[in-house]
Amino acid sequence: MKSERIKSINKSETEVRMDTVASESLLNELQGVVGAAFVRADDVTRFTYAIEDFGGSFFYPLNDRYTAPDMVVIPHTTEEVSGIVKLANKYKIPIIARGGGHDMTGACTPLKGKGGIILDMTSMNKVLDYQQGMNAVHFQPGIRWGDLEHQLNEKGLTLGILGPHGLHGATLGAGVAHNCFSINAPKYGWPVQNVLTLQVVLPSGEVIETGSLANKDCKTWYFRCCNGPDMAGIFLGSGGAFGVITEIAMKTYPKPTESSTLAYAFKNIDDYLEFVHQVGWQQFVTELWGMALIGLHPKLRAMFISMFGQKDLVFLTIDGHEKGVFKAQVKAVKRIARENRGELIPIEGLMHAMGGSVIDKVEFAGGGYYGAMAGPNDNCTCSVTPVLNWKKVVTQGMKVIDQNMDALGGGFHMMGADKFYIFPLLLGGGNSCQSVVSTTVDYCCGGANGTKACETPIDSDKDREAKFNLKRAKELYSDMWEMYVENTVAPYRIGKENPSLIRRLKPEYYAFLKLIKQALDPNNIMNPGVIGLGVTDQEAKGLV
Ligand SMILES: Cc1cc2nc3c(=O)[nH]c(=O)nc-3n(C[C@H](O)[C@H](O)[C@H](O)COP(=O)(O)OP(=O)(O)OC[C@H]3O[C@@H](n4cnc5c(N)ncnc54)[C@H](O)[C@@H]3O)c2cc1C
Repeated sequence: MKSERIKSINKSETEVRMDTVASESLLNELQGVVGAAFVRADDVTRFTYAIEDFGGSFFYPLNDRYTAPDMVVIPHTTEEVSGIVKLANKYKIPIIARGGGHDMTGACTPLKGKGGIILDMTSMNKVLDYQQGMNAVHFQPGIRWGDLEHQLNEKGLTLGILGPHGLHGATLGAGVAHNCFSINAPKYGWPVQNVLTLQVVLPSGEVIETGSLANKDCKTWYFRCCNGPDMAGIFLGSGGAFGVITEIAMKTYPKPTESSTLAYAFKNIDDYLEFVHQVGWQQFVTELWGMALIGLHPKLRAMFISMFGQKDLVFLTIDGHEKGVFKAQVKAVKRIARENRGELIPIEGLMHAMGGSVIDKVEFAGGGYYGAMAGPNDNCTCSVTPVLNWKKVVTQGMKVIDQNMDALGGGFHMMGADKFYIFPLLLGGGNSCQSVVSTTVDYCCGGANGTKACETPIDSDKDREAKFNLKRAKELYSDMWEMYVENTVAPYRIGKENPSLIRRLKPEYYAFLKLIKQALDPNNIMNPGVIGLGVTDQEAKGLV
């Protein structure tokens, strides 16, 4: 079994190698821009950058759509990024900005047949300025969420939002470039909502600045909308299709001095949802993490029931500055819980075991589930729906799953689940629309950290089809999306794999995006395929 697996990986590697031949002269010119140490085209580097996520669950050379990059270039300045982009145009080679590479949607991995340069942005990771009086911070995009937050905390500030529930390597630039959903969003909003101004290297290599910086001679980077239309928006959620973000200014907030974590159990799902809706609507709850029993895999459900009884759970944090206001807010949450028959759960032991905030630690563990759930083709979808629609989405989703269990195979072994699955997690709530439903069709084994490795090597879509009824899994995945979108689900971090965008966008809007893409990027070098742009309609269909 072991030797068969090695053989199958080697076969894929050979295919990838044939697909991507680095040009000597391009390498030389790139070295002229950033220095020889920051241009890498050796196989170890190339294959390392062919992995998204952690532990190899997205080792794209094993996937029929993706390939390893031809080379990896590491810029340190905007001028270097501009120089590299100009060379990519000259050689007509795709270029893909990459932060931590954790997006899980193929967003920063080259398409097979196209290859390209990975622009590793993580050395552009400095805080450039604070504007305490204006509640703003100005920084480079490769900085990691935790690093920025620690530096802000030293100045008595916070970004409020703490980044996605994923891995520590995730960067701010990617977070806004592909519209990530973030911890503390119920109070502070989505990362993209906190963006003030951007500096962007366009596909031509030209550098532009948005917002107040668009004004000639203006040095104030903290106004989002200034003279004329706000153009930051076209880069937010674009997945890097329209340019490389090289500087960002975002809102900051005073660092909270008060904080409390509460947990409630609800016997009735309607009470649970009403509580989440009401506290979310108040907009002072900093973060909310709900775990309903509905839809949970039996093994997980049994675990929660043994800990807390047959109840749906909500963990939440409230933070603030002024003691009186803070106390009143905690009191309000307790009142809303009482009115909805919520039972306060003592969580001191749990908090102690986790070394501090339950929310932080539980969410990090939650993040682990996502990783394990998504297969090499990334069919893990985290979508965002208003709390009021949440029950409908989960209930309908479960129905689709129940009716089609026999058609599907594969599994995500970490959770012991076998087939198609909904992860009924709720993050945030109320009118901030931040509840999450995750759906997975994991028809090939994950192989993620802690996940049992694939027992039978699978190295092509054909193999997967034979083993796991890939076609039916894809149809079901689409059906689920249809149902989600009908229920006001906002898809995010689209990448190259998410089916919602191309088929769900109104044709006029998609045509408008294509028009912008063609105008800005006539050589189609900026991350072709991401959000369904820069590839033929036929190819775009193949990505969904
Ligand atoms: C366990 C786990 C849990 C997760 N939970 C969440 C979650 O709760 N919410 C969520 O949103 N995501 C989640 N994710 C996905 C991922 O962690 C986040 O989306 C995160 O924002 C990715 O950051 P990154 O730096 O790794 O992005 P990358 O994967 O490096 O890049 C993502 C996209 O941004 C583009 N990009 C990167 N830098 C730039 C730039 N400077 N200019 C232009 N484009 C750029 C890339 O080309 C790519 O299209 C999770 C992932 C894991 C593994």
